[in-house]
Amino acid sequence: MENNNTSSNFIKTIIQGDLESGKHKKVVTRFPPEPNGYLHIGHAKSIVINFGLADEFGGETNLRFDDTNPLKEDQEYVDAIKKDVEWLGYEWESLRFASDYFEEMYDRAVLLIKKGKAYVDDLTADEIREYRGTLTEPGKESPYRNRSVEENLDLFDRMRKGEFENGAKVLRAKIDMSSPNINLRDPVIYRVSHATHHNTGDTWCIYPMYAFAHPIEDAIEGVTHSLCTTEFEDQRPLYNWVVAECEMESQPQQIEFGRLGLINTVMSKRKLRKLVEEGYVDGWDDPRMPTISGLRRKGYTPESIVEFVKAVGVSKGSGAADTAMLEHFIREDLKVKAPRTMGIVDPLKVVITNYPEGQVEMLDAEINPENPDMGTRQIPFSREIYIEREDFMEDPPKKYFRLFPGNEVRLKHAYFIKCEDFIKDEDGNVVELHCTYDVETKSGTGFTGRKVKGTLHWVEATQAVPAEFRLYEPLILDADMENDDDESEGKTFLDYVNKDSLIVQQGFIEGNMKDAKPQDKFQFFRHGYFNVDPKHTTKDKLVFNQIVSLKSSFKL
Ligand code: ATP
Ligand code: MG
Repeated sequence: MENNNTSSNFIKTIIQGDLESGKHKKVVTRFPPEPNGYLHIGHAKSIVINFGLADEFGGETNLRFDDTNPLKEDQEYVDAIKKDVEWLGYEWESLRFASDYFEEMYDRAVLLIKKGKAYVDDLTADEIREYRGTLTEPGKESPYRNRSVEENLDLFDRMRKGEFENGAKVLRAKIDMSSPNINLRDPVIYRVSHATHHNTGDTWCIYPMYAFAHPIEDAIEGVTHSLCTTEFEDQRPLYNWVVAECEMESQPQQIEFGRLGLINTVMSKRKLRKLVEEGYVDGWDDPRMPTISGLRRKGYTPESIVEFVKAVGVSKGSGAADTAMLEHFIREDLKVKAPRTMGIVDPLKVVITNYPEGQVEMLDAEINPENPDMGTRQIPFSREIYIEREDFMEDPPKKYFRLFPGNEVRLKHAYFIKCEDFIKDEDGNVVELHCTYDVETKSGTGFTGRKVKGTLHWVEATQAVPAEFRLYEPLILDADMENDDDESEGKTFLDYVNKDSLIVQQGFIEGNMKDAKPQDKFQFFRHGYFNVDPKHTTKDKLVFNQIVSLKSSFKL
């Protein structure tokens, strides 16, 4: 793992050098998502790097939607992305759309044609692929490569006017069909696509390709450092070619960093969309998804995500981080923020036979022992309570310190109780315990008369609020799924989806929690941290998502 301090990161070193040498007076970065899906935690790395570095040097960051592919893009995604960036705590200098620059991109393409640096090609997509050659063989020139400037200008104009079908013609940069870098073998820079665009409607029926559009967008915005992931490394020469040949005033520098992944999940939007569309999850914000919205609904805080991303570091290498590391950061964050409370997931009724019938007393309990400023709460106690079914055994093994016939335990914040008897139903299941309590042992009174080994959590029965607890297991049953390409063996990542990744249980919570609001977070004694689910919680039933259990073996 890398140093948690961003001062050790290589991008920062480059920026610092550029400011010191006077190459740039101000740092300008951009976060450029394509609005074709929701943001995931990999994007959070890009956000933290782009916004974080600009902030550190008093610079600016634009949020720019890279919307050059009308078929896959949608306003829903634009809105969701804006919400997620803001939620993570970042403010963009200005909100841009690549589509706002379509006219200028067109003009730059015309400039390339006039300079003899671009031509209209009639080859089909398959033919272009065939002519491109391979890593070991040079490509072949298209028969249309030497069209005159006049003919190219005329054809490109007619492409724009809609005279040609999708795929009938493309505009290609005229670079070098024998370049060892395949990206430079006359890349396609414009294609015909008769599609309605979410921003420009039907104004255009030709659209620029990413490799042409992106450097122009960066240059128009005066981006100084264009930070992207390492799969674009081979495209850097093309990026520089476009900036130079299109005679852009400003010259952004592309710098690549490694993609962030997580074990036991998939990350690319294409795969995440499949999970949503085919109903494996209940939306982009399903708590099992590695999306920002999924993590938010599960109960992650922005602080925990940002701290995790910073700890992973800004290396060139990419790899799947361990989920345990992400969990470490939410535990750290919630430890001081989340109120403690008690919830019973699999309830077993206990009648305290020597407690006065009809009496309810209020007991004092601290809200968060790690944060005394949060004060105290009042919990009701009476003759009937619920405990966890697993906290009783009729015939326990050695070292079982919870309830069994004749044994005494402590009830958290309350009294010692002793198991005297139990009732079974016709099938032999224990359905009720009969216990006695000792009034002398009340919590907080300093009782030292005798010791017990077990402490149980519980909920008073008459005021208990029914609740649903949703526990989550990994979504994908293969640690390195994002990078494994098993599709060759006739399998896809969908074959590795964990069908048992959602576990739903019914139980009770303390009566004083009935007013909990969606997204409120709590630490349930022994069960870990939970978030009130915003989608399934109703007036009548609170639904809790388990964010993370209490224990971890993870060490930073
Ligand atoms: P996906 O394959 O998930 O759709 P993408 O790269 O196509 O990812 P974009 O919307 O184009 O997604 O990404 C916006 C920015 O976020 C880009 O600069 C991209 O490099 C960066 N990014 C995307 N995925 C990751 C990741 N896993 N780790 C770090 N940065 C990422
Ligand atoms: Mg993409």
